[in-house]
Amino acid sequence: MGDSKHVVIVGGGFGGISVAKKLKRSNVDITIIDKSNHHLFQPLLYQVATAALSPGDIAVPIRAILGERKGLKVLLGNVTEVNKKKQFVALENGQKVNFDYLVLAPGAQYNYFGNDGWKKHAPGLKSVGDALQIRERLLLSLEKAEQLEDPKLREPYLTFVVIGGGPTGVEMAGAIGEIAKRNMMRDYNTFSKNETRIFLVEAAPKILNGYPDSLSEQARETLEEMGVRVLTNTPVTGISESKVSFSEGAIDTPNIIWAAGVAASPLLSSLETKQDRTGRVFVEDDLSIPGNDNVFVIGDAAHKKDKSGNPLPALAPVAIQQGKFLGNLIQNELKDKERTSFNFVDKGTMATIGRAKAVADIRGFKFSGFFAWILWSVVHIFFLIGFRNRFKVFVEWMWHYFTFKRGVRLITDRFSENEDPGN
Ligand SMILES: Cc1cc2nc3c(=O)[nH]c(=O)nc-3n(C[C@H](O)[C@H](O)[C@H](O)COP(=O)(O)OP(=O)(O)OC[C@H]3O[C@@H](n4cnc5c(N)ncnc54)[C@H](O)[C@@H]3O)c2cc1C
Repeated sequence: MGDSKHVVIVGGGFGGISVAKKLKRSNVDITIIDKSNHHLFQPLLYQVATAALSPGDIAVPIRAILGERKGLKVLLGNVTEVNKKKQFVALENGQKVNFDYLVLAPGAQYNYFGNDGWKKHAPGLKSVGDALQIRERLLLSLEKAEQLEDPKLREPYLTFVVIGGGPTGVEMAGAIGEIAKRNMMRDYNTFSKNETRIFLVEAAPKILNGYPDSLSEQARETLEEMGVRVLTNTPVTGISESKVSFSEGAIDTPNIIWAAGVAASPLLSSLETKQDRTGRVFVEDDLSIPGNDNVFVIGDAAHKKDKSGNPLPALAPVAIQQGKFLGNLIQNELKDKERTSFNFVDKGTMATIGRAKAVADIRGFKFSGFFAWILWSVVHIFFLIGFRNRFKVFVEWMWHYFTFKRGVRLITDRFSENEDPGN
């Protein structure tokens, strides 16, 4: 690297990639470090888990996104420590990388609220490995049910429980509802779609907490029409290999998916700065951490308040806008321009519930159904990285829309029964 300032970015997700893209044409050296070699479009991960898309449709190598440029380096590695004083980050393999500016965008991970033993039986949906593990479990369970002649014995294998009624849980439950009540059922002879049971379990009084009540209610009604039983006010008290327990009762099934709480990356604790209840770092108006104006935290890892004093939600548009803002800030600083404050522009929220069904709240304009789904589809195609992926996903969706068929129903024996695919 030359005399230019060195910007180190940890995380090649929505936030990290946005910073790198913004800085690509400026006179800085850039090193982007990620523990995986790809950028992942997490909003469509549930479609990999439910056999609608392949991993390659939603994941792109970070090198391919950023391309070639002098002074730009992509490193595969797990960052384990930040030393603010000596201005370096340390990787798991012992390597140290010095920085002038540091941008931390390591995202979040699932939080089992102190019950880490649950993870093995109820995988969360965060990485390609997670999605493939869930896909394999769902498909194997249907195969197991096909082998069992006794309806009582096959009942657990035809039961699916999704824990957490946020957007991911709603999308997952809706997609399983489509599989288990409709489009794959004609491929099986032993059981009928009436035997399948899907539960969406939520501890709070409503699903899609944070959305307007009318849209939460609409989402619930749509899920129920699709055959999903929505259990609200139902905190989970235990999870084992074959059972989910509540204070009143239990459901027998090996098909349990965790889409409940999240916690920010453990790496952030090495910053030794104030963090909130979920581990997010409190940042200043320019997204730097208090006392260190060359260390920034963005995306799901940052606690930044909006104009009303509420923390910004953990959503892709927040991470993307913060990434672009920081890219500009660093460029401006090199030209001796003053720093400005980050302000999030909220363009609305959406969640899909299944084929041709979604809810949307666009700047106070609330709507649901087919039009919301079209908008959801257009936005998601637009934000996917790369023409090839946009084209492939569009074609897959058209195929799925007209044929009701899910193309990627492969059981590849990738995960043995108790193996954890990791994050
Ligand atoms: C299943 C699912 C569905 C979602 N659906 C939506 C949706 O519909 N709409 C929406 O707006 N948002 C959605 N989100 C949220 C959205 O994906 C996040 O808000 C967004 O990804 C945050 O961006 P980020 O850059 O902060 O982190 P991420 O995109 O998570 O990227 C973090 C990156 O950092 C890397 N990393 C982490 N720790 C380390 C380390 N120690 N060393 C090196 N690299 C590290 C990771 O490998 C990863 O590549 C969804 C999230 C999930 C999990």
